Amino acid sequence: MRQLIAANWKMNKAGKEAIQFIDEFKKLIKNIKYAEIVICPSFTALNEIKKSIINSKIKLGAQNMHFENSGAFTGEASPLMLKDVGCEYVILGHSERREFFTEDDELINKKVIAALNNGLCPILCVGENLEQRKNNKTKEVVEQQLRICLKNIDKKQMTKINIAYEPVWAISRGDPNHKAATPEDAEEGHKLIRNFLEKMFDSATAKNTRVIYGGSMKPENAKELLSMPNIDGGLVGNASLDAKSFAEIVKSAKLN
Ligand code: PEP
Repeated sequence: MRQLIAANWKMNKAGKEAIQFIDEFKKLIKNIKYAEIVICPSFTALNEIKKSIINSKIKLGAQNMHFENSGAFTGEASPLMLKDVGCEYVILGHSERREFFTEDDELINKKVIAALNNGLCPILCVGENLEQRKNNKTKEVVEQQLRICLKNIDKKQMTKINIAYEPVWAISRGDPNHKAATPEDAEEGHKLIRNFLEKMFDSATAKNTRVIYGGSMKPENAKELLSMPNIDGGLVGNASLDAKSFAEIVKSAKLN
């Protein structure tokens, strides 16, 4: 499978800055073969970016979504709206949504189902925080997140789902010097996820589901992380804000 390299811009880059990035980035990735590239900008930049990525290798994703198609939900964007603006992907269950906007696994499950029903590919984020890791709860926490977030999903639907293993303690929160998980620690998390997918579904599903790593991935560590056998790509926050850095990461991708 092709590795998926997705940019999570979080609440950064309004229209003009976003387009400047795309113009520069497109030139840098002309010869890319192996990566599937997704950019997830803010809602307000989606429309402009959609126009600027026509005939390029870049696909569009959103960072969040409501589970209803329409209704009285002030401030929300629906799956239909994301499709309408050209999104193919949507990040769901990011730890910042869980922590700052009180999203729980049950809500995320509704969003995963709504995304699939509307032809969007979820990038479902799971991962333990530092305290949970220190208390040896990683396996329990990640398995519980997967169990609930993937409730009522069948094997066929799983072919559209990407899982992002994002240990919360490794996420940079904008600090370029923040430490990523070591490739070995990341690999262990990915294996845990794959083993659980095998239990929950079957071995083919476990093998074929893309499990990508997120947490301080940058040009300096991308190659090593992406060369681990169970790491099928990256979800990149801070280092995706700079076209050169993100292009370097994209160039580190390979076929898995
Ligand atoms: C993220 O929050 O999805 C992320 C991976 O951020 P960063 O790369 O900045 O750690």
